[in-house]
Formats: sequence, C-alpha cells, structure tokens
Amino acid sequence: MRLAKRVESLPPYLFVEISRKIAERKAKGEDVVSFGIGDPDIPTPPHIIERLCKEARIPANQRYPESEGLPELRKTIANWYQKRFNVTLDPDKEVAPLIGSKEGIAHIALCLLNPGDVALITDPGYPVYTIGTNLAGGTSHYLPISPKNNYLPDLDSIPESVLEKTRVLWLNYPNNPTGAVADLQFFNKAVAFAKKHNICICHDGPYSEVAFDGYTPVSFLQVEGAKDVGIEFHSLSKTYNMTGWRIGMAVGNAEVINSLKTIKSNIDSGIPQAIQYAAIEALTGPQNCIKEHNDVYQRRRDLIVDTLNKMGLEAKMPKASLYIWAKVPNGFTSVEFTNDLLDKVGVVVTPGVGYGQNGEGYIRLSLTIADASLLKGLSRMAQWHDSKNILRPKKV
Ligand SMILES: *Cc1c(COP(=O)(O)O)cnc(C)c1O
Repeated sequence: MRLAKRVESLPPYLFVEISRKIAERKAKGEDVVSFGIGDPDIPTPPHIIERLCKEARIPANQRYPESEGLPELRKTIANWYQKRFNVTLDPDKEVAPLIGSKEGIAHIALCLLNPGDVALITDPGYPVYTIGTNLAGGTSHYLPISPKNNYLPDLDSIPESVLEKTRVLWLNYPNNPTGAVADLQFFNKAVAFAKKHNICICHDGPYSEVAFDGYTPVSFLQVEGAKDVGIEFHSLSKTYNMTGWRIGMAVGNAEVINSLKTIKSNIDSGIPQAIQYAAIEALTGPQNCIKEHNDVYQRRRDLIVDTLNKMGLEAKMPKASLYIWAKVPNGFTSVEFTNDLLDKVGVVVTPGVGYGQNGEGYIRLSLTIADASLLKGLSRMAQWHDSKNILRPKKV
C-alpha cells in the first residue's frame, strides 16, 4: 500500500513507544506505576452520569445529533463564560461545541492555514498544535519557553521574515506540560501583537478550573479586543473528569468559529446528544466537585514536589494544571532517565523532549494517579535515587 506523504510528516509519537514498554512489562507480570497520562482518575460526578443515562434512553437522542450542537448547549456555554469570566458570547455565532477539544485543535488548522503558512507554537507544547499544522500543510515556528521567561514566549523576538508568513499563534495557559500560568498583562500584549501582524490567536485553556492555593486562572477572552483576533478552546475533560465522554468547545471570533463549524459539518456529525445534555448538566449543576478534585490534586502536588526536591530533581509547585515539570538528574537525557526509571523500578514518567526540543532536561509527572499508586511510585523513585543496584519490582 502506498500511503500519503502527510502520514510520514507526522512526528514519531514518543508515547507509543512508552505504551509498548509498559505493555511488555505488564505481560511479564511486573507491576508498573504510571505518572504518564493526564487523564483524571476520579470518576465523572454521579449527577452528570445520571443525566447522561436518562438522556440516552430518549429516542430523539439516539438519532444524528445537531452538528452545530444543541442550541441549549451553546447557550449554556455562553452563560458559563459570562458567569465565570464575565465574557459575553453570542451562542449562535461565537460558540462551537467540539467532540473533545483535541478534535477542534487539529481541525482549526484547516480553517486558518494554506500550505506554506506559519503557525507560532511554544516549545515545549502540547503536540497537537504541530500535528494539526502539519496536516494542513503549514509550517511550525517554535517559540522557546523556559524558567528564564516564566514560560511565556518572547513575541518581540520573531524575525520579520517569519511574521510575514505567520497566520496563527498558539498559546496554552495554564500550560501543559510546564504548569505555568499567564496573566491578563501577557494576553494583552499578545492581542496587540496579533492585531499588528494580522495573526489569529488560538488559546487552549482546558486547565482554567484546575488551580491551587486559591489562584484563579483567567481567560484570554477577558482582554479587550481579544474576540477581534482569536478564539479559545475549552473542554469538560479536565474540569469534570469527562475525558471519556469527548466534549469541549471553541469560542470567540465569529468568522473563525463559523469556518470551524463549516469544516466540521463536512467531516463529523456532531456530539452524541446524550453527552451534550450531560455537558449542560455539568456546566449548570452543582460545582462543588471542582474544589473537591482540586483539593485532591493539590495534596498530591505537594507530596510529589516535596519528594522530587528531596531527591534533587528540581521542581516548582505549579499554581494550576495537572502537571509537575521537573528537572532530570545530571548525566541523563530526559529519555535516558525515563527509560532507566522504568527499567529499574517500574515507574513511568513522560520525557520532556516529547513536547519539543526545549523540553529536553525535564520530565512531566501527572497528578491524575490514585493515592495508593502515587505513594508506591514515589517510594520507588526514592529507591532509584538511593541505590544504583536496584532490584526489579517483585512479580505479582
Ligand atoms: C487534555 C488537553 C486537551 C484536550 O482535551 P480534550 O479531552 O480533547 O477536550 C487540549 N489541550 C491540552 C493542552 C490538554 O492538555
């Protein structure tokens, strides 16, 4: 079979290799503790599941969904933005429900990029920004983010020759994988930059509700004029532990939202309606689950960061997101360290280089790991640290 070149243009997916290694060890009966994937371990709150089940039984919800999303869902999303961020959205023109935000993040490139056009993407960053860009025939220009710039890209450092071809700027705060946050001052600067150079900002904000120590993340759309130059992606996945149900949204600039709806109406047929009603339930029902989950994550965060710092793996307490971004010990690349941890003590962490060249020297640990496994994982990491002659984990 001869496959299209764009398949080959996809970067090798590091996580596939990690999954293969985990499967290999599990097949040998070894027990593996994973800090790998950012996928909430706590179940979807029961009132949301109740609604989902109830709606699934209704015949009208068993047919093709409305591709643009139920009007009631779009209205609910607009109301939520008003209440949470004081951002006003037109539910008919400025809201597009998505089959999980990853889907929209990949498809938006088809709306904004012609072959040869450039997307500005932070390095490290969530891989889908680059992948969507590649699939649309665009080119990624990477903006390094590091502790030196508080993990915010330097928008003044981009060469004029790149800016001429640039159509998109990807931002993501609270940030995956670094846990960094951005304030309105930075977003203000980004909006002015986008206006000046006629660039569309795509802000990805799935972690706006996952925050600690009383910190409240902002929306990019809170900046005056943001809607003129961009859109924001959001998701119910991380806020309400709904990764398995696949529902998110893009909101903001009407022209861009309309183009995304047009592309999508030709590719998919919308979100199963019972899931749309579950999302309405999530956004309008009791919100105490958010604080409860954040308390759990915060406790895990403190435990992980303290343990890592004691081991000499420098890590800061993130104010938001589900991730700890930690330095690897001297003498290891991020992949070498990740492999060694898995080989010696059966612990999985994600190598920073999987999020871009600038992620080298770091690992990412996710907070979505049940308490018992977390304690076991940390004690195994301490074991790794204490000894170079570590025994393999016992077979179960
Ligand atoms: C989890 C995540 C998403 C995607 O979430 P969906 O489940 O597809 O809604 C998007 N962006 C970032 C940065 C994420 O970490």
